[in-house]
Amino acid sequence: MEKEDQGLAIGIDLGTTYSCVAVWQEHLNRVEIIHNDQGDNTTPSCVAFNDHQRLIGIPAKNQAATNPQNTVFDAKRLIGRKYSDDIVQKDRMLWPFKVVAGDNDKPMIVVNYKGEEKQLCAEEISSMILGKMRDIAEAFLEKPVKNAVVTVPAYFNDSQRKATIDAGAIAGLNVVRIISEPTAAAIAYGLDKRSSCVEERNIFVFDLGGGTFDVSLLTIKDKNYHVKATAGNSHLGGEDIDNNMVKYFVEEIKRKNRVDISDNPRALRRLRTACEAAKRTLSFATTTNVEVEALFGDNNFCSSMSRARFEEINLELFEECMKTVERCLTDAKIEKSSVHDVVLVGGSSRIPKVQQLLKDFFNRKDLCKSINPDEAVAYGAAVQAALLSEGIKNVPDLVIWDVTPLSLGISATLDKVMSVVIPRNTTIPVKRIEVYVTLEDNQSSAEICVYEGERKRASDNNLLGFFILAGLSRAPRGHPLDVTFAIDENGILSVSAEEKTTGKKNMITITNNKDRLSTGEIERMIQEAEVYKDEDKKFLRKAKTKSDLDECIYKMSNFLKNEYISATLCSEEKKAFRSAINTATDLLDEENVEHEIVVFEDCLAGLQSMLERVMDMGQIA
Ligand code: ADP
Ligand code: MG
Repeated sequence: MEKEDQGLAIGIDLGTTYSCVAVWQEHLNRVEIIHNDQGDNTTPSCVAFNDHQRLIGIPAKNQAATNPQNTVFDAKRLIGRKYSDDIVQKDRMLWPFKVVAGDNDKPMIVVNYKGEEKQLCAEEISSMILGKMRDIAEAFLEKPVKNAVVTVPAYFNDSQRKATIDAGAIAGLNVVRIISEPTAAAIAYGLDKRSSCVEERNIFVFDLGGGTFDVSLLTIKDKNYHVKATAGNSHLGGEDIDNNMVKYFVEEIKRKNRVDISDNPRALRRLRTACEAAKRTLSFATTTNVEVEALFGDNNFCSSMSRARFEEINLELFEECMKTVERCLTDAKIEKSSVHDVVLVGGSSRIPKVQQLLKDFFNRKDLCKSINPDEAVAYGAAVQAALLSEGIKNVPDLVIWDVTPLSLGISATLDKVMSVVIPRNTTIPVKRIEVYVTLEDNQSSAEICVYEGERKRASDNNLLGFFILAGLSRAPRGHPLDVTFAIDENGILSVSAEEKTTGKKNMITITNNKDRLSTGEIERMIQEAEVYKDEDKKFLRKAKTKSDLDECIYKMSNFLKNEYISATLCSEEKKAFRSAINTATDLLDEENVEHEIVVFEDCLAGLQSMLERVMDMGQIA
């Protein structure tokens, strides 16, 4: 496999709700899951803005209830999608933050940052999370990290994959490879079972996360990982389960208290947090309390939920999962009895009912739980990253064969039928040639429209881009042109057309897709990301200076209370000290004025030199 770029690459699982980063540790000969500054192996995919600063990860999630409009999560649901997309419209209703239509129908997230309204696209939010994961890795490795393998759901289409690469670029990360999450999980699992994997094994990966659901059928033989089929649902996961619980309790409150909290974002957010915690508890307990202090007005909310009730209100969702499981097996043309291992991935795969339905479906087969469902994806990404990093030996040698999640084709005929060039679930990288024929006599140019999707009528599918092959030689209708579709290892498509008789050629990598950020836009966003970083740094520096100043005032005041020192100082000096303390205290108390950092730093420096003098006296004493 080709080694791309220099230096060590990390593996990032950029999840809808939680992200995870891992690295191959050469001296240990294994993958290390890297914990964040709070000691957790996963970090909430959450970014928040307020009047003073930007927050990413845990601090962002922790303040969500008090700042719901400016706390952005689920950006992955928006990435590579259009504003008018049904899924975006549906999601928008449930989010406490605002999403509006930007240029070219691009969804833009509206936040208030430092008193100003800002519009950010999903790539920018994702770039902030990727940047955070990079920072976590850099702190652990104690060296800069430039390259990363980033995972995406298997069903992510061309523009969603590209948007993810763009998000990396904005964060200053070189995304050396995009791999699908279940493939990554299978790598992790395959490594675990390596010694027992001599025969070909069919592995079924069931990944039920926070916002997405992915299933895949892979075969593993020796070092080869081959994805046979994938299926998924971009709108099914733990958050939908949380929503069902919220809906249930909103109705209960309506009934019992005659209060409707459905238009109170703060209350809903707090209730959702309590529901998520209750849900986690119900994975090991059969009943749990749900309590929120002062949920509406002064009313404390206190209720309970049994596992049975929990299962009842989510049964439809769980059954939907099982339908997807069935579809995947049908696509792979594999009987469920031929599946050797069923692997659980994603936090929501811990739900007992989900496990029970899955086990029943696979004729009571034991499910594999030996890999940590939260870390498996990042684990696999780190192995792939090591394979692409220079100078790393001893990485397990494996070859990954991914598949296309959607059919790709052109619209060629008059009736605008989608003519599929590469069917769904074809192994990539792949190159296919389709003959396109002219529709009219002496046609001088041909317009090639490239679509992805499963619908028969081309216009019902997603138009990825188009190009024109002009200057065709004069010929009766039916004149052949070769249209070549090539998909690289990242799942990214390029299409070319050639008039065989003359060698005239034209091609596109699908970058004129309206969803994609232009190089200029990425450049601008990279610069803005630097600004954010600087501002974050400045904010921390200011906060630290203020706290140092506070500490200094405290020490000074205490020293002045010391009788010996007080007696040693002349009254002029004492006055100067008191006045310096008062000025500093006033400066800290001024809430309405935003002073520059230097103002605090100068004040601190002055006070510190005075403090040193006093401390010297203290030592003499
Ligand atoms: P994603 O990859 O979509 O970001 P994860 O795989 O990290 O998601 O899973 C996160 C989801 O798993 C959240 O909705 C969380 O509430 C849920 N979850 C985590 N632990 C449990 C548990 N013990 N029981 C039920 N759900 C859980
Ligand atoms: Mg996940």
